Amino acid sequence: MKPDQRLFEDERPRQTKIVATVGPACSDSSQLSELLRRGVDVFRINTAHGKRSQHETGMEAIRRAGRDVGRPVAILVDLAGPKIRLGELAGGQLDCVAGASVRFVPGRTPAGPSDLVTTYEPLIDELKVGSRVMLADGTVALDVTDIEGNAATCTVVQPGVVRNGQGVNVPRLKLNVPALDEKDRETAAWAARVGVDFIGLSFVRSAEDVHDLKMLIEEHGSEARVIAKIEKPEALDNLEAIIEETDGVMIARGDLGVEIDIARVPIVQKRIIAACRRSHTPVIVATQMLDSMQHSRLPTRAEATDVANAILDGADACMLSGETAIGEYPGDAVAMMNRIAKATERDYRPDEVGETETKKDFGLPRITHGVASAAGLLAETLNAKMIVVASRTGATARAISNNRLFVPTVGVSDSEATLRQMCLFWGVTPLSSCPTEDPQRIFEYAVDHARNTGYLNSGDHVVMIAGTGLRVSKHNMIVVHEID
Ligand code: PEP
Repeated sequence: MKPDQRLFEDERPRQTKIVATVGPACSDSSQLSELLRRGVDVFRINTAHGKRSQHETGMEAIRRAGRDVGRPVAILVDLAGPKIRLGELAGGQLDCVAGASVRFVPGRTPAGPSDLVTTYEPLIDELKVGSRVMLADGTVALDVTDIEGNAATCTVVQPGVVRNGQGVNVPRLKLNVPALDEKDRETAAWAARVGVDFIGLSFVRSAEDVHDLKMLIEEHGSEARVIAKIEKPEALDNLEAIIEETDGVMIARGDLGVEIDIARVPIVQKRIIAACRRSHTPVIVATQMLDSMQHSRLPTRAEATDVANAILDGADACMLSGETAIGEYPGDAVAMMNRIAKATERDYRPDEVGETETKKDFGLPRITHGVASAAGLLAETLNAKMIVVASRTGATARAISNNRLFVPTVGVSDSEATLRQMCLFWGVTPLSSCPTEDPQRIFEYAVDHARNTGYLNSGDHVVMIAGTGLRVSKHNMIVVHEID
């Protein structure tokens, strides 16, 4: 990592983090470097699409881009999860006409032109007369009217064309499909081995789903953190338990808006963010945030407002999917999200969530908790320009982040993995290559960086919290410094 990392791009650095999905529109390292320069903090590789060899190439390109811009960059690998998909259709597609009958049949090949096969063999056994089946991201709806032999007959209630491989959702039925099938286990093991920073678990239904993945990651000796994707009604029923178990949450509004009434998505988003804020869990708002920018240089007013509202609700990060993966203007989409975040943060604070629960205290000693809150208060009282936090596991940096201080925070650690995880923490900028564990010298290192890039000037105040050495688990020291 080059030591000339720029800490903050300007006087008022952005604090909300940007997650960007990689895909054909940003596959080589120069395109990825450009996206980093325009504001990306975390790159997402969605293993539901593409081959392992492509994911490996993408990961190398991300790491090269990170070295190129000289700052830590985190990688999130999303597991496909138990998403059911249509198999091959006769002729590759089927026009589902309102009132017409279609049939789910077993096997891999449809027997007739209006037959549907899926990737989940037991589906027909688990469907019930009256079940609603949604196809192709909810654009086509079917009602099951008859189950006989090994075929389920359905009537089309919302017409449209469906194609090979499109998604199948059965919103009101609890299917027995496992959270982590063999393929996902194998992908998770690979992600753990290659040292990704976050692993996203799709279609989480319970805290046990998250726990299973954590165990698997641990077995592979990885420090990757789990991001639970909330997109099933069962996950909403078990939300508090899932949040307590997971390291982070993604509000996966694409499938969520099919699995529950789309009209409820906004209010459910607010509920999930509030629950995450109460328990200090990083939360990403995802899907269609600037969707029209796949084909336009400007977003709609409604999309700009959606990003701002997610920030005001208290999201740690906003995510771009198709905008950066397959869109025509990936760089413009990142730059726009950056601008909206900065404009929003300039004038407003995220909604207050009141007293935070102590459920997830990261195992922090009480002294550290006290010191982190006091340092925040001190920084705000002095109108400090910067906080520096030395954090071995990232937990203290997360505690500072959760206070939504609006004083830019620099995170320093002797662990590269911790620095990359900080890429998802609201308001924390990880600073790499700190050559020392001595608190005084860490402080000088961070201040020098900020001075050299013109961020700090004479008379500015900086607050630092540290232990008496990075290897000491308690943060027991607050230093206030005035720049000469
Ligand atoms: C979603 O459904 O909103 C989502 C983020 O998941 P994916 O992109 O993996 O479908």
